[in-house]
Amino acid sequence: MSQGSATRYPLVLVPGMLGFIRLVFYSYWYGIAEALRRDGATVIAVQVSPLHSSEVRGEQLLARIEEILRETGAARVNLIGHSQGALTARYAAAMRPDLVASVTSVAGPNHGSELADHIHTHYPADSAKGRLLAFFLRLIGAVMGLLDTGYRGPKLPVDIHAGHESLTTAGVTLFNQRYPQGLPETWGGHGPEEVNGVRYYSWSGTLQPGKTDRGRNLLDGTNRSCRLFATTFVREAGQCDGMVGRYSSHLGTVIGDAYPLDHFDIVNQSVGLVGKGAEPIRLFVEHAGRLKAAGL
Ligand code: CA
Repeated sequence: MSQGSATRYPLVLVPGMLGFIRLVFYSYWYGIAEALRRDGATVIAVQVSPLHSSEVRGEQLLARIEEILRETGAARVNLIGHSQGALTARYAAAMRPDLVASVTSVAGPNHGSELADHIHTHYPADSAKGRLLAFFLRLIGAVMGLLDTGYRGPKLPVDIHAGHESLTTAGVTLFNQRYPQGLPETWGGHGPEEVNGVRYYSWSGTLQPGKTDRGRNLLDGTNRSCRLFATTFVREAGQCDGMVGRYSSHLGTVIGDAYPLDHFDIVNQSVGLVGKGAEPIRLFVEHAGRLKAAGL
C-alpha cells in the first residue's frame, strides 16, 4: 500500500450545507475518503447540523475534534471543509488553534455566495416563496438525517434562516470580522500561509463550457443546477462554480481557483459524474501529500 497520504495528523472531512456522511451506502466524499485511505491516510468524515450557522456547526465540530483526538491519540487534526464546511472549519481553528494543524477550504464561500445573496433578495424569509423554499430545505434535511447511516450522534439542531444568513456576502463579512484567520488582504490575492500555528489552504473550480458541461456531467442534474445558479452571479459573473465565486473562495495558500469543476464535481458528485478530464480525487490525494511534506 502506498503511504503518500500518510499525514502525521488525521484528515477530518467537514461537509457543506445539507451535508451528510453516508446516505445508506452513498458517501458525500464520493470515492475520496477511500482513495486517501488506500494511500495511507487516516480519514474521518464528520457530520454537523445540515442547516445552521457556521458558528453553531463550528462548535459541534470542536466537540467532534476532541472526540477524535481521544479516539486516535493524535495531538491535532487537519480539517478539510467543502462549501460551508470551510467556514465551519475556520471557526473551529479560530477558537482552538492548538487542536488544528491545518484548514483547507474546498470551494468555500470565504467571502460569501452570490447565490445566497440572490435568494436573500428574491426569496425573503417572510414571503410565500421564501417559506416554500425553507419547507423544502427542511424536508430534504429531515430525509437525509433519517438516511444517514454514517452518523451516530444525537439529533442535530436545524435553523434554516441562520444557515442562509451564514452564506450571504453580508453574513460572511460579519463572520470574517470575527474570524479573519487565513483571509487574503486584497480581493483575489492569497491569504497568509499560517496563522496562530494553523496552515491555511484553498482550492476551487469554475464552470467552463465544453469542460464542466460535457463528459459524464451530461448525465448529472447537479451540473445543470450549477449552470442555472451561475446566472445569478454579478460580481463574479462567468467566474464561479455555480454556488461560489472564484475569488470568494480564496483562503491561505491558493492551490488553484479555476479547475474545471462545478460546486459538486469538486467532491466527485454525483456518483463520480464529472466533466471530461476532471480529476477531483487526485486533488485531494495530492493535497494529503502536501500536508505530509509540511510535517502535518
Ligand atoms: Ca458532476
